[in-house]
Amino acid sequence: MTGKAAVFTEVGQPFQFREYPLPDVAADAMLIRITMANICGSDLHFVRGGGPGLKGGMPRILGHEMVGVIERLGRAVKTDTVGQPMKEGDRVCYAYYRPCGACPACWHGIPGCPHRYRHWLETSCEEPPHFHGAYGEYYYLRTGQWVYRIPDTLPDRIVSPVNCALAQMVYALHRIGVTLGDAVVIQGAGGLGLYACALAREMGAGTILVLDILPDRLALAESFGADATLNVAGLPARDRVAAIRERTGGHGADLVVEVTGSPEVLGEGIEMARVGGRVLWIGNINLGQHGTVDPGQVVRGSRTILGLVVYEPWVIPRALGFLQRAGGRYPFDQIISHTFPLSAINEAFAVAAQRKALRVSLLPGA
Ligand SMILES: [Zn+2]
Ligand SMILES: [Zn+2]
Repeated sequence: MTGKAAVFTEVGQPFQFREYPLPDVAADAMLIRITMANICGSDLHFVRGGGPGLKGGMPRILGHEMVGVIERLGRAVKTDTVGQPMKEGDRVCYAYYRPCGACPACWHGIPGCPHRYRHWLETSCEEPPHFHGAYGEYYYLRTGQWVYRIPDTLPDRIVSPVNCALAQMVYALHRIGVTLGDAVVIQGAGGLGLYACALAREMGAGTILVLDILPDRLALAESFGADATLNVAGLPARDRVAAIRERTGGHGADLVVEVTGSPEVLGEGIEMARVGGRVLWIGNINLGQHGTVDPGQVVRGSRTILGLVVYEPWVIPRALGFLQRAGGRYPFDQIISHTFPLSAINEAFAVAAQRKALRVSLLPGA
């Protein structure tokens, strides 16, 4: 038996379809049949050669935000990471990375281990077990990757962004903290920003203000819990900061969340926070791109900046519980704006690259 994958061979080249033999499954691993895989903002960076760059592991299978069904379960695996019984045919979601356990980040309990992608971005898909990423019919889930059974009430469309966008935001807001009544500013109303709205609302935020340059996204932010939105297209940074001050009693926000992916908004984001306020950086995943910040605003303003990537094993179950409890209050089914069969991945990436698409999804079974 073989399975298909869309293979990334080179920056600027279309994905190539290749067939690989289905691998034997180790006793404590499993083979997942992918049912839905999304194009996350970082995948768009990766195809342009961004993110951590192209060192090693070419050609490779990109994609990491996904959901699937257990096709073959290693004989030693009886339960998921939180102890629920698991069998072939179960729907699962999982962390797309695995911390190495043997570096200073791991010793200190930091999930953003620099080696966490060694079996994905740093391993060629020509090497068995081949299925290292999301843009294929299968995914080989290795020993030690956190995996969770998905409640039947959550369809793929709702649950496919859990293992990246939603889990990332749940963890990041937990780490930076949301205090009852906080004035929260969210820079960017993409998938991460919309989740940030709903989560901040549920965590007890007071006023939530969302900034973007696309009217459709701002309208959606309101249905995700934003109290007010501001279209910042063509507005100079100074005016953006002034607009936030004006809406926060002249003081600035308690918490500013950057999810635009643009280094240009970092400086204004800091100045949108009040004295003693917190600033969360998640959107800028590329290395080597520089923005301008005024460090005096951080020091004299006693502001805290927190940047982080990925999350801990407790996060996905909490994200799934959140979707179940809050599903009636927010239109989570609108996060995925377009779907394509996997065979149309090149068209799908072209659509995802246009800023109008919120999140584009690929269906390997279609
Ligand atoms: Zn992602
Ligand atoms: Zn490590």
